[in-house]
Amino acid sequence: MSYISKTDLDYWLEHVRIYANNGDVADYIPALANQSPEISAAAFYSIGGDCPKAGRSDYTFTIQSISKVLTLALALIQHGEEAVFTRVGKEPTSDPFYSIRKLELEQPGIPLNPMINAGALAVTNMIRGRDSEEMVGEILDLIRRLCHDDSITYDRDVAQSEFQTAFLNRSLAYFMKQNGIITGSIEELMDVYTKQCAIEVNVKQLARIGAVFANDGRDPETNNPLIPATVARICKTFMVTCGMYDNSGTFAINVGIPAKSGVSGAILGVIKNEGGIAVFGPALDDKGNSVVGVELLEKLAQQKKWSIF
Ligand code: GLN
Repeated sequence: MSYISKTDLDYWLEHVRIYANNGDVADYIPALANQSPEISAAAFYSIGGDCPKAGRSDYTFTIQSISKVLTLALALIQHGEEAVFTRVGKEPTSDPFYSIRKLELEQPGIPLNPMINAGALAVTNMIRGRDSEEMVGEILDLIRRLCHDDSITYDRDVAQSEFQTAFLNRSLAYFMKQNGIITGSIEELMDVYTKQCAIEVNVKQLARIGAVFANDGRDPETNNPLIPATVARICKTFMVTCGMYDNSGTFAINVGIPAKSGVSGAILGVIKNEGGIAVFGPALDDKGNSVVGVELLEKLAQQKKWSIF
């Protein structure tokens, strides 16, 4: 029995909150440096629609790298597998998410997977739209459908703060432009990318996205298809192999569920046929994963025997 109750969530979040002392808030995006490390929250959105929550569940945060799963889903929906995987690979890197070095090592400069920044930039570059506003609109449309909430939007200050300081991401993008992987204006691409990363949610909204993936792309309440099952399967596979950055192997052993984290301190997890879990705690370990989030998922996965392995 792996169903999560509010008592489970409250108990384990209270138990692991203290681990925030073992991490640091991301500060390379100035607006994220202001987050309070002691804030924590969790929600489990079940297939069927129950949603127990714990901690500061009304608190909103930006999804950061979790957006990479959504833009991958969108690019696959819009262009199909064959086209997407000519621009981005399918293999883990064992490098940090912002690393540039394998772009030069791998020929012909294709980023190794869509969960590292280089791969995510190549994927975002494929999203349809005449300009950055339309592209952001496509991404927001998808996330609003998954969350069943039209109010979801991005945080302008966080987007702006990253846009002004995204020198490394610009370098990755220019490198790929030189190699013909990326086309068009890099400034426009950075505008879309920083806005997708700055999309703002609370744990309940994020957990609902996980519930859609847990339900093979179908709405957790109505069962209406929102993402094709094949696309959901590909996204979940990348979450297992690359979703927790260069800690994905350890996480697969210790937790064993598809998951994606973001440097804001959020983690999205998928428990097949059960639901989605979202955890938030801005203090990060040295790989960029929420320390409270990883601890909570480890405890719950052990107790509920979640591992897909
Ligand atoms: N916006 C962040 C960046 O590109 C996302 C990275 C992350 O969450 N790991 O650096």
